[in-house]
Amino acid sequence: MTESNLITLNNYIEGKFQNSKCNHWIDNYSPATGDLIARIPCSSTEDIDDAVTAATNAFNGWSSLSIEERADWLIRIADGLESRKEEIAQLESLDTGKPISLARGVDAARSIANFRFFANHILDHEQQIFEMSDATNRVLYKPVGIAGLITPWNLPLYLLSWKVAPALLMGNTVVAKPSELTPLTANLLAEVMDEIGVPPGVFNIVHGNGIDAGAPLTSHPKVNLISFTGGTATGREVAKAASSGFKKLSLELGGKNATIIRHDADIISKMPEIVRASFMNQGQVCLCGSRILIHETIYDEFVESFVNTVTNMSVGDPSDEATDLGALISAAHRDKILSYIQIAKEEGGVILCGGGMPLNHPTQFKDGFWIAPTVIDGLKPDSICAMEEIFGPVVTLHPFSNDDEAVEIANMTDYGLAGSIWTADSDAGSELAERIDSGMVWVNCWLHRDLRVPFGGVKNSGVGREGGDWSIGFFSEAVNICVKHN
Ligand code: NAD
Repeated sequence: MTESNLITLNNYIEGKFQNSKCNHWIDNYSPATGDLIARIPCSSTEDIDDAVTAATNAFNGWSSLSIEERADWLIRIADGLESRKEEIAQLESLDTGKPISLARGVDAARSIANFRFFANHILDHEQQIFEMSDATNRVLYKPVGIAGLITPWNLPLYLLSWKVAPALLMGNTVVAKPSELTPLTANLLAEVMDEIGVPPGVFNIVHGNGIDAGAPLTSHPKVNLISFTGGTATGREVAKAASSGFKKLSLELGGKNATIIRHDADIISKMPEIVRASFMNQGQVCLCGSRILIHETIYDEFVESFVNTVTNMSVGDPSDEATDLGALISAAHRDKILSYIQIAKEEGGVILCGGGMPLNHPTQFKDGFWIAPTVIDGLKPDSICAMEEIFGPVVTLHPFSNDDEAVEIANMTDYGLAGSIWTADSDAGSELAERIDSGMVWVNCWLHRDLRVPFGGVKNSGVGREGGDWSIGFFSEAVNICVKHN
């Protein structure tokens, strides 16, 4: 990319696009080609302070609107995004290296749907009244104040909008810090807010890295709430920083999810979904099933069919509609994943497919960040690669002999985000699901999302729940008013 078409982004503070105070920049690269595509402000404490001041100044006006008026703003934001839907998909694919079909069907579509969903959901939220013999209790959902929102790179606008929509709806004003690796669609959201005239200061974006911009946001004394999605180690730092100010805190963290294939699973018809659950977005979805537990009686049959399907996926040009898998987010992330594959080999793992650069990879992508989908057999369930989150296109396979053993293996890790169970017996699958220590378990499906249900993890996968009423509750303070009857 030449200097002339290099994208330069600014922060969005108090309704103005502006550079960081220190005038330092972060380079942003295309994962597919390794080319420099953009530069973003490397913001620091001063910029966070300005954004928090803007959000504070805007709070009274925004929070005094009725909830219907704020829901109306959400619809206007959704309409603004909808009119730029294809641009969202193109920017997301460029910035993350993900296939354009995924960016269109999942990222762009869900980002818009998040605003529409919360605007409509609030209409179903009934006034809560608790009558006593001599008094009436009425529950109010008041705004919390200034919401600090921090998001990762794997589903950039999808996850940012999942936080921004309920935060604004409930009357909070927002300071968002998107991932420094994928800033493009967060900037587009700021442009939409600006175009439709959201009052200055209600929504602010500060670009930058975690240490210089994220950390000052989490510890800022005037920020009342932090919603963080990212890695578990970072979540621990965020929790420490947020705790001294008693901020409301939601942490959506890493996962090491099990996919359980029971003896009676219909592996032929379900195979495309099982492969999708393993490798969607190059395995860079916190919910992906990176450990497949297979009943021993169908182990060989399953493995042959699975590897066959995986090797037939098309890995390559993200802009090609027919591409199944694209690039990894960065050179550092690729190298981390390769180091896990090396550890797997040292632990006795057998690489059934993948393990490095895709075969016959086009030369235009030779400097990008790529690994072919990798399937590893022969590792113990408590080996490093089966216990730690790799967050890439790497799956380990493990046999089990009965449901008890499947549960034991599934619950062996420190994580507890999600899981899926595949079986002809839905009742048995549903009962088995209750024994998995995870926030979400799908039976005969994966990532089948109803936005009303609770979303979040147990153990090291997170604290709290978002989604539907859980987001309404998290982004507000429930206050009870008790009136004694005369
Ligand atoms: P990350 O933890 O490295 O970064 C996430 C965000 O936190 C980024 O914006 C980053 O700049 C910021 N950050 C980094 N250090 C910080 C600090 N000290 N204080 C405040 N902010 C800081 O995560 P990532 O690599 O961007 O994302 C991948 C991880 O996210 C994986 O572990 C994945 O499982 C997880 N994830 C979880 C969910 C979920 O819903 N549970 C969804 C998506 C991704």
